[in-house]
Amino acid sequence: MPDVHGHILVVDDIEENRDLLQRRLSRRGYDVVVTDSGERALEILAGGEIDLVLLDIMMPGLSGPETLAQIRQSSDQGSLPVIMVSAKNESEDIVQSLETGANDYISKPIDFPIAFARIETHLALKRADDALRSSEERFSLAMEGATEGLWDWDLKTDEVFFSTRWKAIVGHDDADLPNHISEWFDRIHEKDIDRVRTEINKHIDGISLRIDTTYRIRHANKTSRWVRTVGMARRDADGNPVRLAGSLSDVTEQILMDPHTDIPNRTHFRDSIDRAIARKERDENFDFGVIILELDSYQDLKSSVGHSVSEQLLQDFAQRLKAHTRPGDTVALIGEDSFAMLADDIGMVADAVRIAERARGIVEAPFDIFGEEITSTMSAGIATSYTAYDSAEDILRDATLGLRSAQELGGNCAQIVDPELHAQALARLHLEADLRRATVTEAFELHYQPIVDFNLGKITGFETLIRWDRPDHGPVSPVVFIPVAERTALINQIGKWVLNQACHQLAEWQKSISTPLDCVLNVNVSPRQIQQPDLAKQVADALADSGLDPRSLKIEITESAVLEDLDNAARTLERLHDLGVRIAIDDFGTGYSSLSTLLHVPIDTIKIDRSFTSTIESDPKAHQIVNAIINMAYSLGKDIVAEGIETKSQAAIIHDMGAQYGQGYLYSKPVPATQALDLLKDQLDGTNAPQMSVAI
Ligand code: C2E
Ligand code: MG
Ligand code: MG
Repeated sequence: MPDVHGHILVVDDIEENRDLLQRRLSRRGYDVVVTDSGERALEILAGGEIDLVLLDIMMPGLSGPETLAQIRQSSDQGSLPVIMVSAKNESEDIVQSLETGANDYISKPIDFPIAFARIETHLALKRADDALRSSEERFSLAMEGATEGLWDWDLKTDEVFFSTRWKAIVGHDDADLPNHISEWFDRIHEKDIDRVRTEINKHIDGISLRIDTTYRIRHANKTSRWVRTVGMARRDADGNPVRLAGSLSDVTEQILMDPHTDIPNRTHFRDSIDRAIARKERDENFDFGVIILELDSYQDLKSSVGHSVSEQLLQDFAQRLKAHTRPGDTVALIGEDSFAMLADDIGMVADAVRIAERARGIVEAPFDIFGEEITSTMSAGIATSYTAYDSAEDILRDATLGLRSAQELGGNCAQIVDPELHAQALARLHLEADLRRATVTEAFELHYQPIVDFNLGKITGFETLIRWDRPDHGPVSPVVFIPVAERTALINQIGKWVLNQACHQLAEWQKSISTPLDCVLNVNVSPRQIQQPDLAKQVADALADSGLDPRSLKIEITESAVLEDLDNAARTLERLHDLGVRIAIDDFGTGYSSLSTLLHVPIDTIKIDRSFTSTIESDPKAHQIVNAIINMAYSLGKDIVAEGIETKSQAAIIHDMGAQYGQGYLYSKPVPATQALDLLKDQLDGTNAPQMSVAI
């Protein structure tokens, strides 16, 4: 016996018929209610428990068809099946009943196997109808309240049900969008469509548990919206997908806006650049600039004032920036503390620079953050469409490069990027790698440039100058690679090597010459080296290791190296001085030239920068400065070395002013150790080159 259930109402005026039906149906497993009239039947049906009615046609009072007509006023064929029970000669009534809404009929005398089959069919249809009805109700309820659009895609026909909200998300009214899959896929952004298809196929193939993908879709107003689709497949008994259904939500705001500063984020900004690039392709007279801005020392500020203050600072800055931009320009936050501007429709490169400068100017007024006054400066990097870019990433990369070079220049400025800068950056990376290798293998050499005593006309010392023969490139000037070594901290290792090498070299010379050698070796020490707490120890070790007398060594440092961290530098220099090592200030006159620095640290020698020496004859100002420096040094009891002496007259002028020592090509270029030793030997033999004594 099949698994049947349901409440059946039997309506028949003849008791015999009612009893027979009741008995057979009950035995079959149904709950059976019986009644003898149409009127009574309607009352029972009002109670709502009945699933199917067996209705006799011929009855006194309300006939079968009349009763049916009344039933159909409140219930349709799907919700309440009615099967007419007829005698053989009632065919007309059967036709009329079917027209009025009967579902089926059976004839008397009743053939029960057929009657059961029909009853069961109609009950099954009713159950299906009930299920559909309740799911539709749920569905429409869900749709009314939903902010998400719903979709249901029949994979066989490619018909898709789009909810009203779904259509609204893409800017369409309920009526004007055909139910076809192409209406959906044709709207997906060309850069996203392949990805969306892949995501859907992964789910259809059973690789992913559900579809969850975010992409751009074209709105009816021609803009693009970011939407997220989540969905699942309904599968048949064999596991083959028959339908896909799910939701669509508009996530444009989440995707494109920075939640803290409430301005567009990097994704949004990239889209804006993409649009600008596309416009440039259509209209060659259109040009735009991309400017990236960062507050100088934001990271330091963050660690000193805390997260919430620095976050608020960014928000306040975003508001100021927004208030200052021209309509049409985009302002965005593209990194933790990197702001960006897209300046639309500029007339020339200089316009972008002007806009960047104006943006930098808005941080001039201090920020009031939770009652705390914060001042900052700002750096900017600029790239423009005057360089042909075909991707947003490329132009962003170049603008960032400009920003970094502005920051390397000390910040508080803007740098525009030309494509060469990119090549330079690459070249520098390669240089860094080679320099690192050279440091490990100690592939450097020291050259020695004599320092000459004007009065005695002889060499009193040498400045050691590092040389690097870069593989596949040839000699690289220390002016180029020392700053790179500084930035990468390689200078500490290189500096150590220079110190050791120089000390050993002089010790070796002293040994190779029989007469005592009154010669001092100057070694350049860079700002970063001074910051090392163990510099004095490094020097002491090099001296001890080589056996060199500390008085034969002089350290050259620049004034800025001392000023960078005066207390620390003073301590280190003090320690060096205590060892017996002497100190020279290099390139004097180019920096602060501050007298107070000289009073704070133990200085023995001042080296006047080459830029003064080379212009001393032509530039009265240089003349005055050198004069002042010499007088000052003289009154403080410091030695003076004039760097970069190339001509006899330069030497004569400087000597007349009272300087004691000179160094420059006039006497000798920096030379390898063997040649330097030869110069020393010649001097001992009295066979010096004639120019050595020229200034006397
Ligand atoms: P500096 O210490 O001021 O060295 C003097 C520079 O002037 C040297 O350049 C030298 O070759 C050059 N020079 C000397 N006389 C003349 C002249 O008459 N005319 C001209 N045109 N130039 C002259 P160099 O060797 O290229 O070194 C440049 C800079 O690199 C040095 O300037 C120094 O700051 C740095 N440097 C060189 N060797 C080392 C080193 O071992 N350690 C560190 N930290 N820096 C070094
Ligand atoms: Mg020097
Ligand atoms: Mg110098």
